[in-house]
Amino acid sequence: MGRRKLVVGNWKMNGLRAQLGEVEAIGRAAGEHPAVEVGLCVPATLIEPARAVAGAAFIGAQDCHGARSGAHTGCLSAEMVREAGAGWVIVGHSERRTDQHESSADVAAKALAAREAGLKVILCLGESLDTRDGGKALDFVLEQLARSLPEGAGADWLSIAYEPIWAIGTGRIPTMEQIEEMHGAIRGALREALGADAADGVRILYGGSVNAGNAADIFALPDVDGGLVGGASLKAESFAPIIAAA
Ligand code: PEP
Repeated sequence: MGRRKLVVGNWKMNGLRAQLGEVEAIGRAAGEHPAVEVGLCVPATLIEPARAVAGAAFIGAQDCHGARSGAHTGCLSAEMVREAGAGWVIVGHSERRTDQHESSADVAAKALAAREAGLKVILCLGESLDTRDGGKALDFVLEQLARSLPEGAGADWLSIAYEPIWAIGTGRIPTMEQIEEMHGAIRGALREALGADAADGVRILYGGSVNAGNAADIFALPDVDGGLVGGASLKAESFAPIIAAA
């Protein structure tokens, strides 16, 4: 199944207009690797200016609300981030599941709202270290997937990111066997939920301390279709080699 590799940076709460030069340089790096789909999910305040300089890279948002509009002070709807210039959105990042207490039902609603607004979606899943050490990582992630998967999920608009919480920003990554096992299990669950044809087109990204040194090995694993990259995506000099590795 020919799935195009997808490498997406997540800038989290980092980035002012002064950093638009990095966006531009990352866009240039993306242009040098047309076989890879490259994007940057920037803070909402940067979506519009980043879009103007991102070249071959798409610009995405890091969250959207599950409702179309209403009394939700401080929140942004999918239509708003779309209008600002985002083509994609991350939903269910573990930092939001933890800090904003987002449930998997909330995440499924956000994904549906995003689709309705014409956005593509990266849906994040991942277990804590306690869950991994307790031998329950597979069960946990598959249940999170079942509860977060929006109705009508399809490869044309949905990608999954497996991001073990204990690997995010820590410099620690799972073994290649653990990544392969988890991605294979997610693929299997998607086949059951969506049927083999649809499931085999869905890209499953790995996220958590991806860097220039480990990207090629991770991206070569079966059922790893690219990466969601935090810290190393902030600068073109560290992100470009990861794009090249895909
Ligand atoms: C992330 O938060 O999505 C992430 C993968 O971060 P990092 O690459 O810094 O571990």
